[in-house]
Amino acid sequence: MKHVLITGGAGGIGLAIARKFNADGARVLLCDVDDSALARAREEMPAIIAVRCDVSRSEDIAALFDTLTQEFGTLDVLVNNVGIGGQTLPAETLPVDQWQRVLDINLTGTFEVTQRAIPLLKQTAGTIITLSSAAGRFGYPNRIAYSVSKWGLVGFAKTLAMELGSFGITSNAILPGAVGGERFDRVIAGRAQLSGRSLAEEIEIGMTAQSIKRIVQPGHIADLALFLTTEAGRHISGQMLCIDGDMQHS
Ligand code: NAD
Repeated sequence: MKHVLITGGAGGIGLAIARKFNADGARVLLCDVDDSALARAREEMPAIIAVRCDVSRSEDIAALFDTLTQEFGTLDVLVNNVGIGGQTLPAETLPVDQWQRVLDINLTGTFEVTQRAIPLLKQTAGTIITLSSAAGRFGYPNRIAYSVSKWGLVGFAKTLAMELGSFGITSNAILPGAVGGERFDRVIAGRAQLSGRSLAEEIEIGMTAQSIKRIVQPGHIADLALFLTTEAGRHISGQMLCIDGDMQHS
């Protein structure tokens, strides 16, 4: 039986990944900062463990791993899903504390969680899956901190693949494009506010960047994450896995 840790797992893509692994018979521990989303996840999936942890707080991460050690004592899969977009503003006016907040959660939080997970993953020859973004291979105007963090996570996943390959650990970055759901709605609303265009116009503009003009759903990302833990998937390491309908630009 697989033991899986998912950061930011009580909503959006993380929750879809939790559902997928839970349905596949894995034991899932997810962490999040949103108490009501955690409660909803527990209610929906009584078998999972859902704990409060802000990944930008080292003490929260230490407590998370205390829980994980007590409840699981082992770890097969780490899903570094947590990520915030930050404010939609030009670089020129983005407050430094907003820039820092995005990097603290998306990069440093993910680093600290992974650092604590590595000794456990070495014992199981485990799998590390890190959520980057299309913003991690293109620029992303008015979201500079987010784009920087997502480019950083590509290097993060690649470096871990190289450092940990001799332990049988695989590490890959998943780069979704526009994924359906609340976050997608917020991004479109932010763009529309800046451009003065309607929501429908912004969605149409977004789709012109893709060869396949369909919005990827969170469940599709979850299917890819699950595949990376299969025997075939565990031959894949150090890759940027784009799941974006062949996006050509941001
Ligand atoms: P989301 O905002 O819907 O969910 C993220 C979850 O993380 C939320 O439940 C939130 O409460 C939690 N969270 C926020 N700050 C936290 C913190 N400090 N500590 C712990 N948990 C925290 O996001 P999503 O759309 O599901 O995205 C998940 C991942 O996929 C992110 O890394 C995101 O950058 C990436 N991604 C998303 C899209 C998309 O279109 N949705 C596209 C590309 C990449």
